[in-house]
Amino acid sequence: MPELPEVEVVRRGLESHVVGRTVTDVDVLHPRPVRRHAAGAADFAALVTGRRILGACRRGKYLWLPLDSGDAVLGHLGMSGQMLVQPPGAPDERHLLVRFRLDGPRELRFVDQRMFGGLAVSSGGAELPAEIAHIARDPLDPEFDDDLFSVRVRKKSSGIKRILLDQTVISGVGNIYADEALWLARLHGDRAGRRLRRADVTEVLAGVRAVMQSALAQGGTSFDALYVNINGESGYFDRSLQAYGQEGEPCSRCGTPITRVSFMNRSSYFCPTCQPRPRRSRAR
Ligand SMILES: [Zn+2]
Repeated sequence: MPELPEVEVVRRGLESHVVGRTVTDVDVLHPRPVRRHAAGAADFAALVTGRRILGACRRGKYLWLPLDSGDAVLGHLGMSGQMLVQPPGAPDERHLLVRFRLDGPRELRFVDQRMFGGLAVSSGGAELPAEIAHIARDPLDPEFDDDLFSVRVRKKSSGIKRILLDQTVISGVGNIYADEALWLARLHGDRAGRRLRRADVTEVLAGVRAVMQSALAQGGTSFDALYVNINGESGYFDRSLQAYGQEGEPCSRCGTPITRVSFMNRSSYFCPTCQPRPRRSRAR
C-alpha cells in the first residue's frame, strides 16, 4: 500500500505535469473508481470536462486537484492505485480505469489493479474538500502543530502505535512508518500515550519525519521520467528498514533479534531490548 511519502511523490509529479492544464475529455472506463461520486460516472465526467486544474494538493494520503470551478477532483490510491502521465497514443494499461485528456502533450490516467482506490468530484472542495476536513495534518505538512500533537497524545490511554495510526490525530503514518519511528525512538508501541514524557513524543515525531524524509529522498529520484508510477515498493523498503519485516534479524543497535507480534490484523515489529514492553500493560 502506498504510504505518505509515495503519495507525496505522486503529488509532486502531478504538480509538474498536469497543473495549469485544461481537461478536454474524461473517459470513465469502469464504474468502480467513481463509486463515491454519488451522481454517477456521467456527472463526474461532466463536472471535470472543460475545467482547468489549478493545483495538486494532499492531506494525509488523499490527493485533490482544485479546479477553476471551485470544485476539486478528490482521489485516494487505495492499495494499488496509480496516477500515470502518458502521451495520448501510449497503449492502455491493463487496469486503466479513468482517462483524463488534457490540452497538453500528455494525458492523466488512473490505473488500479485491486480497485480500492477512487476518485470523486468534491463540490466546492478546491480549498479543502469537506470529505477530508476531519483528517489531521501530517508531520511533513509545514502547518503541523507539534505542541498540539504532544498534548493530544499525552491525554490518550491507548498505545502509542495505535495513536500514530489514528488519522484524526496525525495523518499519513502507516504500519511500516509507525514501526520504524518507534524503533528510532526506542519505544514499544503498547506504551500508553498518557504515560509518555513530552520528550518521548518529540522523539517519535522526529522518527516519523526521519523515515518519511528518507523515503521521499529515494522516491523523489524516480519520477523525472514521463510518468509517475507508484506501487508502494520503492527501493526504500529493500534497503533502509530497521524493524518492519525484519523478524529474526539482529537489531542494528544491539544485536537482539527483532520480534514480530500480531497487531490489528497486521504485524508489529520491534526490538525487545531497545523497545521493552510496558510493565503494566496487558497484551492486546
Ligand atoms: Zn535493539
